[in-house]
Amino acid sequence: MFTEYRIDRNSRITWVCGNWDASTTRNGASQLTSSSVIGRLLWDFVSGRDTRDYLQAIFHWAHGHDITLHMSYRCDTPEEERYYRMSVRRAGDDEVGVKHRLLQRITAPNPPQFSLHDGQDSSARCSVCCRYQVGDAWIDPYRTGDQMWMRGPFTVCPDCRGTALDTIRYSLSADISNRYGPNGPGTAN
Ligand SMILES: [Zn+2]
Repeated sequence: MFTEYRIDRNSRITWVCGNWDASTTRNGASQLTSSSVIGRLLWDFVSGRDTRDYLQAIFHWAHGHDITLHMSYRCDTPEEERYYRMSVRRAGDDEVGVKHRLLQRITAPNPPQFSLHDGQDSSARCSVCCRYQVGDAWIDPYRTGDQMWMRGPFTVCPDCRGTALDTIRYSLSADISNRYGPNGPGTAN
């Protein structure tokens, strides 16, 4: 099962896939109908400046290259860990296609408790791996069973930033190889 949308260079949503409405309804976001999101800026639906910067870097890269970028991320529900893959590719001269595919669901044996009042005091949450920052550590409450007190913004943790940079670096190498051969520009191929 996947959903897909396209955005232009201004990150305005230009198109969504045919199963969009069925998918958003199934995920409890039935108000996000295809007709209500087409024409809107993607950033109207993204929380956190760091998350926006992270996505902008990926989309900017995809606009300029013919390699599909694959990024893993989590988007949990209160009872389940949900693992997704986001695939980003250039679509024509001015658009980028973004496909989200659900890869795995794991039911939490002891679902974490989230509170606005008590528990571990979390200062930020990673939009990519869903971990919570507590002091200098990043905690996955689905594995620790901790009760979390959420008061921080969405961000992107150092591990996920590093993974994104590595992915872009590898993809850049693949793109250069595609265009110039394995030895890079300036060599006969
Ligand atoms: Zn992370």
